[in-house]
Amino acid sequence: MKIIVTGGAGFIGSAVIRHIIKNTNSYVLNIDKLTYAGNLESLAEIEDSANYSFKQIDICDATTIEQAFNEFQPNLIMHLAAESHVDRSIDGPAEFINTNIVGTYTLLEVARKYWQGLDDADRSSFRFHHISTDEVYGDLEGTTDLFTEKTPYAPSSPYSASKASSDHLVRAWYRTYGLPVVITNCSNNYGPFHFPEKLIPLVILNALDGKELPIYGKGDQIRDWLYVEDHARALYKVVTEGAIGETYNIGGHNEKQNIDVVKTICQILDELKPQSNGQPYESLITFVKDRPGHDLRYAIDATKIKNVLGWTPQETFDSGIRKTVDWYLNNLEWCQRVQDGSYQRERLGVQP
Ligand code: NAD
Repeated sequence: MKIIVTGGAGFIGSAVIRHIIKNTNSYVLNIDKLTYAGNLESLAEIEDSANYSFKQIDICDATTIEQAFNEFQPNLIMHLAAESHVDRSIDGPAEFINTNIVGTYTLLEVARKYWQGLDDADRSSFRFHHISTDEVYGDLEGTTDLFTEKTPYAPSSPYSASKASSDHLVRAWYRTYGLPVVITNCSNNYGPFHFPEKLIPLVILNALDGKELPIYGKGDQIRDWLYVEDHARALYKVVTEGAIGETYNIGGHNEKQNIDVVKTICQILDELKPQSNGQPYESLITFVKDRPGHDLRYAIDATKIKNVLGWTPQETFDSGIRKTVDWYLNNLEWCQRVQDGSYQRERLGVQP
């Protein structure tokens, strides 16, 4: 298989590429613009593989994307490139509209032209896999419901609205042009190489620095946490075995309130790296003004992917969060280079 992965220098994309290169014989071309969220250092362990290559391209640049398709001749596309941080989408939605909507449209058009030019055998095995989020379904406040593949869309933030738009485009390209697509909508990921501004790494790194651990509102928001390596396995299964035109929800069966996530991290750190002043890390927790439009609860029903494709997560939240804290304790240099900006300065040739 030859697989184009867009957004492969990001958190989930890099986990997908590490998974494919380490566990299969497939070739991967990573297409990534390298925004602030793209970090090639997350791919260090596989970057020398003969099965891996990288091109720095913006998915909105149709001409260069088309050249890359024609040179690489992919069998499969896994589209993860996106602006992904809800807080950033509230401060500046424009990039979210460009990358998530216009970028996905551009990629669909390039893929359609390329797919139509393939011979019969390659055309029937080609897949365009769009990776999306459970946030397109909106909020489950006050219910015990779970998001299924049939839940109506009701996005709340500029981020989730832009992802919802891109999902609609992908389905339209299937219905109208017959492009062979599969879509996945997953819950909150966590694990190694997560950008330090996101909740779990932020809490770990602030705690180690003795800084406040900021929690939105009362910390009662519920998310269904999915270990990123479980997600990477699921995505490879869907792109290689999923049925054309189908959507699969992917979740970790781990509904947790944010406050409990933070307290669990504090307890693991108390055990592995106690504060020198003898205080428990929980004493650093600080409640801050809630995010506007903050959804209270997301929870995924992942029955379909389990029954149809035989995928279930291997990590419980307890095992996954322990692995994650452990990874951050052992990879503080990776974090340091993100926090001080050197991961970007060096690739841009800028002196510190
Ligand atoms: P990320 O922000 O860590 O990575 C995104 C990657 O896309 C970066 O490497 C960035 O450089 C690249 N990119 C951004 N704009 C680009 C452009 N115009 N052209 C080419 N590359 C571009 O995101 P992530 O957390 O790895 O998420 C990956 C995908 O999964 C996204 O589509 C996101 O919506 C979806 N998702 C993420 C989560 C989560 O918990 N992280 C949950 C559900 C769905």
